[in-house]
Amino acid sequence: MSHGNLAIFVPHMGCPQQCSFCDQRRISGTEKPPTPQEVEELCGAAAPVMARRGTQGEIAFFGGSFTAIPRPYMEALLKAAAPFVEEGSFSGIRISTRPDAIDQDILRLLRRYHVTWIELGAQSMNERVLEQNRRGHTAAQVGEASARIKGEGFALGLQMMTGLYGASPDTDRETMEALVALHPDAVRVYPTLVVEGTYLAQLYRRGQYQPQTLEEAVSLGAELLEGFGEAGIPVIRMGLHADPELEKALVAGPYHPAFRELCEGAVLYNRIARLLAGKSQGCYMVFVSPKAVSKLKGHGALGLKKLRADGYEISVKQDPVLDGLEVRIGE
Ligand code: SF4
Repeated sequence: MSHGNLAIFVPHMGCPQQCSFCDQRRISGTEKPPTPQEVEELCGAAAPVMARRGTQGEIAFFGGSFTAIPRPYMEALLKAAAPFVEEGSFSGIRISTRPDAIDQDILRLLRRYHVTWIELGAQSMNERVLEQNRRGHTAAQVGEASARIKGEGFALGLQMMTGLYGASPDTDRETMEALVALHPDAVRVYPTLVVEGTYLAQLYRRGQYQPQTLEEAVSLGAELLEGFGEAGIPVIRMGLHADPELEKALVAGPYHPAFRELCEGAVLYNRIARLLAGKSQGCYMVFVSPKAVSKLKGHGALGLKKLRADGYEISVKQDPVLDGLEVRIGE
């Protein structure tokens, strides 16, 4: 059975602060919070379509602060969605929220309404970086909330951002290690973008903040993909979805609609370079999985060009036995 979630956006209402990278007014101005009635209609419309397609999925309330919205409204949304899980049309409910908006009471309530997956916006595990980016929570709170979520038997997702104000590749690597230590079931990684109307945009214009270049973000993203992969933690998202509204509001930063592909291409390049290290320059056949060919050859084939500049002429071949980003050098 294939998998597909029904995504319902719940914009945050009444954040106690404004994070450096977030233009809350743009988000809450353009997106109307769904009514419980609308949630019921959306679920009711999606259920038969999913059944026809043989798709199994969850109802996903996303927006980043689900448990920080007014409690009666939150409960009304869950109440509208829960019957569709009870009748078997969906396998559960996912929510995303802030680390400081999780406690035992909320977890009990979420369980009652069949929430199975909770995702936390951690963003960084460096206290200084969290403070400089006005997140309004600490790294310790990320740890406490994660432990509670796992302890109560929910699946845990964690999100991190690279290149935040005051961050460095080293603090981002430390964040990765700290998140790995919390044993999430999956993570999402987002490079920081400068969006109009944000504190970061002011800092950028004053010359006090320099976002990562696309190359820097891709190179670090590749490291994080490998690091999480080695720890057995799936990276279920890298970079924001392509969005014309976001593109309009973008001031600066490493935005690319195929950011993950670029990072995966960089992982392949790193792996090939490691396998070739110590070998004499010349022509080599490199085998990758059929799905990985476009990651190496697409988007300007930057990795292959770098290898050529180092004296390695690579011909890329498919090997259906290989999986994901596995690489083998041919004889
Ligand atoms: S990113 Fe920060 S300011 Fe924006 S909605 Fe989330 S918690 Fe609120």
